[in-house]
Amino acid sequence: MPHHWDLFFFRGNEKKCDFAAKKIEFFPLQEVNEMWAGLGYYRRGRFLLEGAKMVVAGKDGFPNQVSSLMKVKGIGEYTAGAIASIAFNEAVPVVDGNVIRVLARLKAISANPKDRLTARNFWKLAAQLVDPSRPGDFNQSLMELGATLCTVSKPSCSSCPVSSQCRAYSLSLENRTISVTNYPTKVVKAKPRCDFCSVCVLEILNLERNQSGGRFVLVKRPEEGLLAGLWEFPSVILDKEAGLATRRNAINLYLKDAFQVEPKKTCTIVSRKELGEFVHIFTRIRRKVYVELLVVQLTGGTDILFKDQANDTLTWKCVGSDALSTMGLTSAVRKVYSMVEAHKQGSSVAPDSSNRAAISRKRRIS
Ligand code: SF4
Repeated sequence: MPHHWDLFFFRGNEKKCDFAAKKIEFFPLQEVNEMWAGLGYYRRGRFLLEGAKMVVAGKDGFPNQVSSLMKVKGIGEYTAGAIASIAFNEAVPVVDGNVIRVLARLKAISANPKDRLTARNFWKLAAQLVDPSRPGDFNQSLMELGATLCTVSKPSCSSCPVSSQCRAYSLSLENRTISVTNYPTKVVKAKPRCDFCSVCVLEILNLERNQSGGRFVLVKRPEEGLLAGLWEFPSVILDKEAGLATRRNAINLYLKDAFQVEPKKTCTIVSRKELGEFVHIFTRIRRKVYVELLVVQLTGGTDILFKDQANDTLTWKCVGSDALSTMGLTSAVRKVYSMVEAHKQGSSVAPDSSNRAAISRKRRIS
């Protein structure tokens, strides 16, 4: 399975996005986000760009030692060790999950590898072992050994090139109750936190312009935290699982505060439909997502929406369905939009005569 870095650069080539041709200081984060869309770990895409800008802005060329690499945004100890040892032959270690497993078995270390002190000790041990003449090859071979032979549950000890030096293997031969898989200690993963999210796909029709479909409101997430700087449909995080009425109340309040979209005052509801729910798993969060499609016509035209945008702390935009289909969206947002598309294939909400009739009946947000 390709790593998400590979997919990112593959998409860059596919889009004929020439990173070198654009001045890096002006390269838009949005373009990186679009190529990264759906790959998860979005901070990495942002840091990649920020790090590249730092390197270009610096006067000392590309950093070639762990100490200077670690000053670059997004480069931690692991990446710095990998670049320094593989690209610049610096005799420094690289420690990832595979390396920890191999070292724990070679030395029969049963301590919890997630413990900070134990993790530091694995780095120290790896630093003692690294081959000063070929550090890059040594580090890669250790990682490869963990990925291919010394696997989590089915290590191939009989064909392992270091089995004669492996303490866990020799212990397992001496005592049948001991298995090499006892090393390192298995850590029970913390359960992800559960939360609930009500998503409202807000579609704005403009009947005067006789459009075949409306435009959708997208909100930019804050520049820090989960999914920083990415676009999503308007949504509200709920404290606990909530019924339809509670969810709609929360969404109504949000739409009023954020966009002045308020039934009876600034908009007429064309249709409002629950589209379903799904569970989305982030690294540490299990999120239940409720999805509804709200189609409105603004009483005063779209000017109401845009009137106060300059003063808003919220960044948002309206896009058509063509743009939505092609722009880079997170997998959860894409899932929401595919629910909208599926719904529309079954029942169109285009501003045809029946919808005009619906508008004239002036249904309001309940
Ligand atoms: S002998 Fe077995 S446990 Fe030891 S390093 Fe090789 S594969 Fe891993």
